[in-house]
Amino acid sequence: MKYIGAHVSAAGGVEHTPLRAHEIGAKGFALFTKNQRQWEGPPLSSENIEGFKKNCEELGYSMDQVIPHDSYLINLGHPEKAKLQKSRNAFLDEMQRCEQLGIKLLNFHPGNHLNKHSPTVCLSTIADSINWALNQTRGVTAVIENTAGQGTALGYRFEQLAEIIDQVEDKSRVGVCIDTCHAWAAGYDFSTEAGFQKTFEAFGKTVGFEYLKGMHLNDSKKALGSRVDRHDSIGEGEIGIEGFKFLMRDTRFDGIPMILETPNTERWPEEIKMLYKMTE
Ligand SMILES: [Zn+2]
Ligand SMILES: [Zn+2]
Repeated sequence: MKYIGAHVSAAGGVEHTPLRAHEIGAKGFALFTKNQRQWEGPPLSSENIEGFKKNCEELGYSMDQVIPHDSYLINLGHPEKAKLQKSRNAFLDEMQRCEQLGIKLLNFHPGNHLNKHSPTVCLSTIADSINWALNQTRGVTAVIENTAGQGTALGYRFEQLAEIIDQVEDKSRVGVCIDTCHAWAAGYDFSTEAGFQKTFEAFGKTVGFEYLKGMHLNDSKKALGSRVDRHDSIGEGEIGIEGFKFLMRDTRFDGIPMILETPNTERWPEEIKMLYKMTE
């Protein structure tokens, strides 16, 4: 079973997200548990927490189908001490929000070296940040997202994801989320059968499917290897429909949330239907 869905709005409170997911026919969903463009948000109220749990239960969403995304401001590989700590504190807050909501996964972008320390040091800093947050929380897995490699963002190569995981102490609470647009922009061509097999064979060998906890399903406005992150609707971009067909037919991607972050939110019900059709 594939849990295909989208990143739905949490406007008015996180308790509304399961309803919005249900409305578009999603079997999985992502959300922000606080405003993603601000450092601090009000704590979750008991109304938020109980409402979220109740709505998930009533609409049949288990916690395997939910994968929140953290704030865009957080850089767990920041080269400056004070700013790194600010990011770590914000990340811990996000992990604790997940704990409160009973959510098991938290998806985040690994970090940017900002040309102020080497990629190797940055990857170790990210791993230290993960260790620091995992030591203070229970039950939530830190899910590293692959990036397009735009600017100084790391995590665009599977090897970099593996390098972070290698340095995480509790391997049972670290995972990865593969964004198809980012993988494409980073140079992984899975638009043909041979390319798809090669890409995910490399993923299996380098990272391992046991770490795959989620997917972001996005087509790409930019070319293969462009290192530019611009999402497009499924089938409208440079990847094209075939790449998504291979993915939908492959059981290695079953049982994890597969989240649309495509630009035309009105098309989500149709895109979800189309993707489910491909699984048949
Ligand atoms: Zn992301
Ligand atoms: Zn993106």
